Amino acid sequence: MTARILVVDDILPNVKLLEAKLTAEYFDVLTASDGASALEVAEAETPDIILLDVMMPGMDGFEACERLKSNPKTRHIPVVMVTALSDVNDRVRGLKAGADDFLSKPVNDVALFARVRSLARLKMMMDELRDRQATTGAEDLFEQEMGEEALFSSACILVVEGSDFLGKKIAEHLEAAGCSVDRVTSGAEGLTLGAGNRYDLIMAGLDIGGEDGLRLCSQFRSQDETRHVPILLVLDETDLAELAKGLDLGVTDYLIKPIDRNELLARARTQIRRRRYHDKLRGLLESSVSMAYTDPLTGVYNRRYMKAHLDRKITEIPESAKPVSVLMCDLDHFKQINDTYGHAAGDEVLKEMAGRVGDNLRDFDMVARYGGEEFVVVMPSTPLSAAQAVAERLCKRIGTEGFAIPGQAEPLRVTTSIGVASTSDPQMEAGGLLAQADAALYRAKHAGRNRVVVSEKADESGESADGADGADGAELPHAAAGGG
Ligand code: GH3
Ligand code: MG
Ligand code: MG
Repeated sequence: MTARILVVDDILPNVKLLEAKLTAEYFDVLTASDGASALEVAEAETPDIILLDVMMPGMDGFEACERLKSNPKTRHIPVVMVTALSDVNDRVRGLKAGADDFLSKPVNDVALFARVRSLARLKMMMDELRDRQATTGAEDLFEQEMGEEALFSSACILVVEGSDFLGKKIAEHLEAAGCSVDRVTSGAEGLTLGAGNRYDLIMAGLDIGGEDGLRLCSQFRSQDETRHVPILLVLDETDLAELAKGLDLGVTDYLIKPIDRNELLARARTQIRRRRYHDKLRGLLESSVSMAYTDPLTGVYNRRYMKAHLDRKITEIPESAKPVSVLMCDLDHFKQINDTYGHAAGDEVLKEMAGRVGDNLRDFDMVARYGGEEFVVVMPSTPLSAAQAVAERLCKRIGTEGFAIPGQAEPLRVTTSIGVASTSDPQMEAGGLLAQADAALYRAKHAGRNRVVVSEKADESGESADGADGADGAELPHAAAGGG
C-alpha cells in the first residue's frame, strides 16, 4: 500500500525525521512548513493522510485543520495532529477542529505506523466508494452530515469492559449525550449482543475479566454482524504494543485512560459519523450494483440481465427435464397513449404494466423490460401450454381492467399483444427463443392485437403449437371490456 502522506511542521528537523521514517516504510511523503502552504499542497495534491503539527507560527494546527475540514476538496483527508502537549484540552480542541487522531512528540514508531496504515486503509475504501458515488451522480454525501445531537440520539453503542466502574462511567457519559448503550462485562455476552443487534460503535477494554480484549476484537471482526462496526479500544498509556496489534486486527481507534468525557465524546462522534458515512456509501454501492441489472423506470430486470438469465435457464433444462418458455409482450398502440395523455402518463402505464405482469407470475418467473413498451417473461420448468395459459390470463387482466394513472380522471384503456415460445433444447440460444416469441408477437399484432399467439415452431418436449392450437398458432382475442 503506497499511501501519500503530507507532513506539516515548522521545524525542519521534525519534518526530516518523519519523512525519513515514513519513506523507509515505503510511504510517499510530501512536506510543508506552515499552515498556509499545507492548505495549498493538500488541495493541489490530495494526499491520503495529513500529519499536522499543532504549534506553528501564524496559522496554527487547529486553524489549518478547521480549514482543511471545511474545504470540500480536502475535508475527506484524515488529519492526524502531532503535538508536544499531552494536555487533554488540546486533544479535544483538535477533535473539535475535525482532527481524526493524535500523535504525541516524540513520535512513537509503533503508534505512527499503526495509525497511518489503519487510516490509509480506511481512506482507500472511502475513495473507492466515492468514485462509485461520482459515477452514479448522487449528491455529495459530505453535505448531508447530521448534527451532533441527532447523531448521538440515533446511536447504539456496545460497551464491553471488565471493570464495572470504568464501564459504568463510559456508559454514563454516552447516555448523557443521548446515545443508547448496552453494557456488559464479559466477551461472551458482548459477542452475543453484537450478533443480535445493529451497533454503531463498540467500545472494548483490553482486559475483560481476565479475557483478552484483543481476541474479542478479532472475534468481532470475524462475525458478520459486527464486521463493519467501528471499535474503540480503551487502554493505558503503557499498552502501546497491544495497541499496534489491535490496529492490525482492525480496531478503528483508541482512547487512553483515564477517560476524559470530552475526548470520549469527540472520538465516539468521529466513529459514529464514519459508520454512517460507510453505511450510506454501501447503500449507494448496492443500488448502483442493482442499476446494472434493473430498469430504472419500472424496477424490473433489464434486457441484458434477462438474456443472461434465460441462457442459464436453458442450459439447466437437462437437470429439470422441463422446457423453458418465454412471453414477449408489447403494448398496443402505445404511441397513441403518449400522444393523447403525454409522455409522463405513458411512463405511468409502463410502471403499472410491469407491476401487473409481476403480480401474475410465480416467484421463479422473471419479468424484464425488453425495450420501450416491450416486456419479456422468462418461465423455467414450464411447458408451452402452461405458458400460453399464463399469457392469456395476463392479456385479459391488462385489457379488461383499466389503468388508473395519476392525473387522469378516468382509468386508461390499455391492451397488449403477447407472443409465446418454448424450448426443451439445452443448445438453444436465448436470442433464438426470443426471436420465436417475437415472430409470434408480430403475428398477434397483424391478427388485430389484444391477443396471444403461440410460436409455430414445434417444441421438442413433444408439445407443439400445432398440438395445442392449430398450425397457425393460437390467436385468442380478448375484448377490451367485459370478456375474452
Ligand atoms: P403497436 O401496437 O404496433 O405496438 O404500436 P405502438 O404504438 O405501441 O408501437 P410503436 O413501436 O410505433 O411505438 C412505441 C412507442 O413507445 C414509441 C415510443 O415513443 C414509446 N416509448 C418507448 N419507450 C418509452 C418510455 O420509456 N416512456 C414512454 N412514455 N414512452 C415510450
Ligand atoms: Mg407497441
Ligand atoms: Mg414496440
